[in-house]
Amino acid sequence: MVDQPASPPQLLLLATGGTIAGRSANSTSLNAYTAGAMTGSELLQELPQLQEVAQIQLAQLTNLDSADLQFQHWIQLVKRIRECFAVSPELAGVVITHGTNTMEETAWLLELLIDDPRPVVLVGAMRPATALSADGPLNLFQAVQVAGSSQARGHGVLVVMDGQIHGARAVTKVATQGVGAFQSPDFGPLGWVDDSGVHLPVATGSRSVPFATLALPLQWPEVAILYGCVDPSLAMVSALFNAGVKGLVWTGTGAGQLSAGERDAIKTWPGVLPLMLRSSRCGSGPVHPSELQDELGLLPAGTLNPQKARILLLLVLIAGMERDELSTLLASIAINA
Ligand code: ASP
Repeated sequence: MVDQPASPPQLLLLATGGTIAGRSANSTSLNAYTAGAMTGSELLQELPQLQEVAQIQLAQLTNLDSADLQFQHWIQLVKRIRECFAVSPELAGVVITHGTNTMEETAWLLELLIDDPRPVVLVGAMRPATALSADGPLNLFQAVQVAGSSQARGHGVLVVMDGQIHGARAVTKVATQGVGAFQSPDFGPLGWVDDSGVHLPVATGSRSVPFATLALPLQWPEVAILYGCVDPSLAMVSALFNAGVKGLVWTGTGAGQLSAGERDAIKTWPGVLPLMLRSSRCGSGPVHPSELQDELGLLPAGTLNPQKARILLLLVLIAGMERDELSTLLASIAINA
């Protein structure tokens, strides 16, 4: 049985594409398909069950594979959600259909920018809509259940996949296939959703939204990610420094370790260094301060994975914050959150 308030909640559905809107030539093609081939309206038509649980207003923002999203799409998304929340008190929440490959990035971006207790829920699918046992319809149904539920209020931006409810801060895609491809390493999912309703057993804490009022410019600073390995290419480091990137995330080995060669490249760089964070390629566990690397100006990204550390750097740079302010921010959102 699905929870049903007297009058179904009003939700905004923002469709952006992805495999959830993907079509393949036949039902057994799980990898050869076109993402973003169906509109949000077609997805809704194929899911009449939604009419029982919500009144949905649809907007098609774009229809792309999420690897092709650009900052301009993020700007539109943020603007749309902020505006709708500001002018529509009757709106219970927002659902965003999104490709799974970069879903965690969009979720984390919104977590840092949208200050409203109403749920914003991202959802996608690992199998195209045309596949045998497509996971999109149930995922979308469950995302709508979560976005319309009062239990989800105050939990921030959420990702609903395969019956699990994840927080934007920790969620990440951990597998290239299979419907259970999302996890929240170190933290675990916040809850789950099924036909008995929405279950979010952990109480909401106070949520800090550091960039709630930040205006997003059309032009974003360039922030790159480097990946650590044995005997890394130092040509990449000087190429990025020469290109004048404003921010750089080092995906270090282990707990965010840089090689002696990389440290040397930083130490001997004659120009202005970008704002730099150290994350890890391990996939879980924190990156703590380390004297050796901190003295080079690198700040530890805590438990933020490299792609989320990059988003933090982007917003910090847009906000014109200095390294010390970033350090304070990291202490509140990256290590303990
Ligand atoms: N290629 C897809 C994307 O848009 C993958 C997916 O949605 O599962 O990210």
